[in-house]
Amino acid sequence: LCGGSTQFRFTRTILGSLECGYHECTSCRGLQTDTPTWLDRSYSAEFHGLGLESAARSIWSQALVAYLFRVLGARGKILDFGGGVGLLCRLLRDIGHDAYLFDIYSTNIYAQGFAGEPEANYAMVTAFEVFEHFAHPLEDASKLFQGRPDFVVVGTGLYRGQGSDWDYLFPDPGQHVFFWSAGAHRWLAKQLGYHVVTVGKTITVYSRAKVGPIRSMLAQGCEIGAKLTQMVLPLAGRPGVARDEKRLSQPEPAPTANQPDAARPSELSARAQ
Ligand SMILES: [Zn+2]
Repeated sequence: LCGGSTQFRFTRTILGSLECGYHECTSCRGLQTDTPTWLDRSYSAEFHGLGLESAARSIWSQALVAYLFRVLGARGKILDFGGGVGLLCRLLRDIGHDAYLFDIYSTNIYAQGFAGEPEANYAMVTAFEVFEHFAHPLEDASKLFQGRPDFVVVGTGLYRGQGSDWDYLFPDPGQHVFFWSAGAHRWLAKQLGYHVVTVGKTITVYSRAKVGPIRSMLAQGCEIGAKLTQMVLPLAGRPGVARDEKRLSQPEPAPTANQPDAARPSELSARAQ
């Protein structure tokens, strides 16, 4: 990530047979595997399933994002970066958020009609279980910040010097290749001109503008906040379903003669701001 020198920590066996070293950066304290030459196999059909946790995680993330969006005072669109088949995006739209999906590796199943691009402007970009997959952490993580979103919410296991028995390493199938320390998050934020609102055990929040002490304190309590939000969400209904039914059923107007390159309304709104 930061170009600092590394110190060998331990080895684990990757893909059942490959000895892999894990190295800690002496500067930002991030942990990285040996150069991951095995990723083609890691992402082959044999290993690249949805994962047993993915549905439950999306339901939890729905409450977490709803909570953070409110307490941080965010206004505007959300992009779920690396959002897989789009379940979190759909769940956020259900409760009224204007959420979009970006994932170049998965098929968009739940968020058809709501694909987004990271270059556009968003109030919030979210990335759950994405950052630990980055083989080029600086280059890859920077992509989330391209459109200068107001907030970036990252869910990834926090490296705090854990040993070879850390359950987040998942050496089989070898997809987790970089582990973010608090120092690594702070280093990235500084490079990109962002503030770090909170670094939690799994959730880190970046903001473009400085966040006041009350909002910052509420963001720090986001795991409890998400649990409380989960209790009240069923009472709020799903206003986004009727809204999207209407939106998707409206025929897109054809570009007019004097505007041959006119973008479609959905593209216009994604490019707005
Ligand atoms: Zn480093």
